[in-house]
Amino acid sequence: MDAVVWLEEVGKDDLSIVGGKGASLGEMINIGVPVPGGFAVTAQAFRDFINRAGIAQKLFEVLNVDVNQESELHKAEKAAKKLIMDAKVPEDIEQAIKSRYEELCKREGKQVFVAVRSSATAEDLPDASFAGQQETYLNVRGAEDVFNAVRKCWASLYGARAIFYRVEQGFEHDKVNLSAIVQKMVDSEKSGVMFSSQPSTGEPLVVIEGAWGLGEAVVSGSVSPDNYVVDRKTKSIVSKYIATKEIMIIKDPKTLKTVTVKVPAKKKEAAVLKDSEAVELAEYAEMLEKHYGIPQDIEWGVEKNKIYILQSRPITTINNAKKSAAQVEGSGKVLLSGLGAAPGMATGIVRIINSGRDLDKVSQGDIMVTKMTMPDMVPGMKRAGAIVTDEGGMACHAAIVSRELGCPAVVGTKKATSILKDGMEITVDGGKGLVYEGRIAVADAPKPAAAASSVVVSKPITATEIKVNISEPDRAGAAAATLADGVGLLRIEHMILGLGKTPNWYIKNGKTEEYIDELVKGIKTVADAFYPKPVWVRTLDAPTDEFRAMEGGEGEPHEHNPMLGWRGIRRDLTETEHFRLEVRAFKKLHEIGLSNVGIMLPMVQHVSEFQKAKAIMVEEGLDLERIDVGIMVETPGAALTIEDFIEDGIDFVSFGTNDLTQYTLAVDRNNENVAGLYTELHPAILKLIEFVVERCNEAGVKTSICGQAGSYPEMAKRLVEIGITSISANIDAVATVRETVARSEKILMLRALRNRD
Ligand code: PEP
Ligand code: MG
Repeated sequence: MDAVVWLEEVGKDDLSIVGGKGASLGEMINIGVPVPGGFAVTAQAFRDFINRAGIAQKLFEVLNVDVNQESELHKAEKAAKKLIMDAKVPEDIEQAIKSRYEELCKREGKQVFVAVRSSATAEDLPDASFAGQQETYLNVRGAEDVFNAVRKCWASLYGARAIFYRVEQGFEHDKVNLSAIVQKMVDSEKSGVMFSSQPSTGEPLVVIEGAWGLGEAVVSGSVSPDNYVVDRKTKSIVSKYIATKEIMIIKDPKTLKTVTVKVPAKKKEAAVLKDSEAVELAEYAEMLEKHYGIPQDIEWGVEKNKIYILQSRPITTINNAKKSAAQVEGSGKVLLSGLGAAPGMATGIVRIINSGRDLDKVSQGDIMVTKMTMPDMVPGMKRAGAIVTDEGGMACHAAIVSRELGCPAVVGTKKATSILKDGMEITVDGGKGLVYEGRIAVADAPKPAAAASSVVVSKPITATEIKVNISEPDRAGAAAATLADGVGLLRIEHMILGLGKTPNWYIKNGKTEEYIDELVKGIKTVADAFYPKPVWVRTLDAPTDEFRAMEGGEGEPHEHNPMLGWRGIRRDLTETEHFRLEVRAFKKLHEIGLSNVGIMLPMVQHVSEFQKAKAIMVEEGLDLERIDVGIMVETPGAALTIEDFIEDGIDFVSFGTNDLTQYTLAVDRNNENVAGLYTELHPAILKLIEFVVERCNEAGVKTSICGQAGSYPEMAKRLVEIGITSISANIDAVATVRETVARSEKILMLRALRNRD
């Protein structure tokens, strides 16, 4: 076996020669996908090196430690890496690497910069993803430096985490080898990721996210990317929204190091992709999905107008909900149980988080374990493979955000932070609400033919409008890709709490314009993505306990039950200065042409609140003839007096069943001790809803639901029967709810026809 092979000489069956990543890159080159060229230093070259250098026996001896002892594990890492770095690499192997690099330079006509990437032979096995555990070195140039980077990749096979993983997985150290991939660096002017099928519904839509500079900014979530959705069948762009891109990662032309810089003003709001580029990317995505027979998650970059594909791997989120614990192989020990708040399964390392300040601990794919998530933890939640909390019910912050992010979550376990320890490996089943010790092998995802039947391939037209709920403006693109008829709830508190400072801080520090601009920026992202479809934006509804942790939150009152306390419209009507800032933001949005923005008032319980809010809006110059203003029906008080609101001119109502349930049944939605009593299908709640819908239908007022219950098929069916005008669901539930609604409507029509005959 040669020490080096060109990437085009290998394909998907060559895992034992060039590891998982190398095999996938070779395969893509061979089917005509534009992958940057390069070569692989084979796994056999690595074996040959350790054997001929005489370090193999010693190497596997030093690795033989108790990996649960931190200090032993680190001693093993140090000793193994030292052996690799100090040993003499046989002349012929060293020369083969260096001369192949020179040949690559000749091919390219210059001393090329390369990326040296690790590709382990145990990578990407069905039940053991070793991805991300070994190192990658970017921007390497010169034969000597390339050789050194290859050696560092070899050494990275013995990082503490990699050693621990192999032992936990039952892999013997001497059975896993490493191939180093030396690949021409793509100096992307723009880059991103794409999904060959809609990642939460499986629809045949290519979803592309892109930003300026190198792809790391998009992958790590440090920039809000543009979002383009391309219909695979018609090759047309079905939705596009251009984000404000603040930063980019580039190679500094002087130091040649990768640095993060501000995006130049004229590129900030400019579209990253031309339409033709989006369509070309979608064609590659389709090609890869067809070739592998399963939807793909793909990294791409564009350098000097040429598209490159940098990586492709199966999407793991589609049909996640269908991978229930019934498919768990073996009898994993259950460590904890709680409420299955967001479906899907994930295995990863526990990171206990006590506050937003600990977020650096959470790397991509780790399991975030916390008492209760707070909005300032969202950046970490985006990286987490799953989330487990002590507190909370189905409608708590962790549950709402996890569902929106498509991240499996178990909430209300009561003791996750005491039973789980940092560094432990666990498997989370967000469907069943279970947490297992270690890695639980999950049966393969259904094969494409079987999966096809559960994938939505067309969008039924429904008389009842199907809308979507959003809490994070970053998710606007994914939400728009569901082809929903509008946004039934945009929560702004997540935007505000994400700023790290309370609204009062901005007021006290004379920075009200800055605050208004932040609101405008976040809302605009969503309103742009949906224009001209309606986007109902809810005014602030954050309980006092969530503000307390923020700068400016020191004086927040300690309330016995913040859920019943100073939140929503009742707070905005006592702190009218804040409410006026929100109203000014709405005014600005309408002035810049976003006439699709409507205003929704939360926690209303008496018509006088609606009247006072309206008076302030008029004082601030809002033209209420042209702006839809409505209320959330979240209290029995508002439901039972709905006629007063209708008389006073509401344009719409939306049922906040998360709160309506807790206030009707006297069950705190954040309290895991009473979570068993919490059900939106209680007859009292259905009666309240029916009462309101009937009155509103008589008066021509639109009705909707934006509580979690709208995402449940059973509730959706009942609401169609009751005669609701629209249903707003979570991003991942839109397709299912749409299907349920279409069927329920047809049943009603059939029933009516039959009764007529
Ligand atoms: C609700 O109460 O149903 C609702 C949608 O609002 P939140 O969950 O933000 O309280
Ligand atoms: Mg509510």
